Amino acid sequence: MSRSFACEVCGATLDQLPRDPRCPDCRGPLSYQGVTTPEFVPTDLARRPPTMWRYREALPEVGTPVSLGEFMTPLLPLQAGSRQVLVKCEYQLPTGSYKDRGAAVLMSYLRQTGVRAAVEDSSGNAGAALAAYAARAGIHLRVFCPDSTAGAKLAQITLTGAALERVPGPRQEATRALREYLARTGAVYASHLWHPLFLVGVKTMAFEITEQLGWVAPAAVVCPVGAGSILLGLYRGFCDLRRAGRIPRLPRLVAVQSGLADAVYRAFTAGAEQVAPVFPSRPTVASGIALPAPARGKEVLQALRRTRGTVVTVDEDDILSGQRALAQAGFGVEPTSAVIWPGLLRLEHHMPLPAGAVVVCILTGHGLKSPAEPVMPHP
Ligand SMILES: [Zn+2]
Repeated sequence: MSRSFACEVCGATLDQLPRDPRCPDCRGPLSYQGVTTPEFVPTDLARRPPTMWRYREALPEVGTPVSLGEFMTPLLPLQAGSRQVLVKCEYQLPTGSYKDRGAAVLMSYLRQTGVRAAVEDSSGNAGAALAAYAARAGIHLRVFCPDSTAGAKLAQITLTGAALERVPGPRQEATRALREYLARTGAVYASHLWHPLFLVGVKTMAFEITEQLGWVAPAAVVCPVGAGSILLGLYRGFCDLRRAGRIPRLPRLVAVQSGLADAVYRAFTAGAEQVAPVFPSRPTVASGIALPAPARGKEVLQALRRTRGTVVTVDEDDILSGQRALAQAGFGVEPTSAVIWPGLLRLEHHMPLPAGAVVVCILTGHGLKSPAEPVMPHP
């Protein structure tokens, strides 16, 4: 099996991943180079079960996958202001977020390489996804979460038997605590931000959207961006499809950030090549995208520029209004997901698209994970 990895910063290549899956030379992020031109045959695909594993030509050889049933998520029409868009209902995946795609591939890989225990830090959804897939894989997971993480997400983690470490302070404090633990124990770091196999799983979202559109790429895809896992998964997936000759051009990728956690927006609009962390962190209702800066910031900026995409920021009231608007159309998503609604409305000014252009919006996390509406007494 091909297992080659390359550093995105210094270009070093390696066949085996270290326990801390960063470049041993420069600590930069690694990417998976095993398959970059998947030879999909649509007629073969049509005979396969409707799960992300149907794209096996693009995935590493992991034996029997660690699976909880990662079915193809619905792509449904939604009227958003003056534009009709398609929403990709990733919140319907097994643990209620798109992170299941990455967790399934990552845990399959770890199990196949004989790993029995691992650690992760997360604002909640990645921890919940990795905990469920670790449980399925028979791998013991320890998850470091900010103390402020929604109770439903914490319950998702602890019920699997994973060890939960609640860390006071903002998101980056959970990472700091995890790094101390890694230094002390030498544990395997199953990071959704750093482990290159996580993004390989997220790539299947791009394949699925394209297949659902009849092997035609959309004009644009709009997604929430904190660490940029969705954006990068989509970018790499669409690049694979273009290299394989399946699509002629890449969709324009649109990142939506909270105005209170806007490091990518600042770097993009300043023309920077790297994303500088924004401190101090300010709490946002979009807790899933509240990070000082992405680990793979340079590639996030490249993905936005190479696809002629853009970044928009939205404010807190608009996020909550967006959550309500989506729910009133039947889509019950968490505030982090709901940023796409005000993001779409703002996009009309930033990056006008022709009428009729196919725009896909990613709905990332389930509303039951962090309900924002207060419970009102009966009148
Ligand atoms: Zn390096």
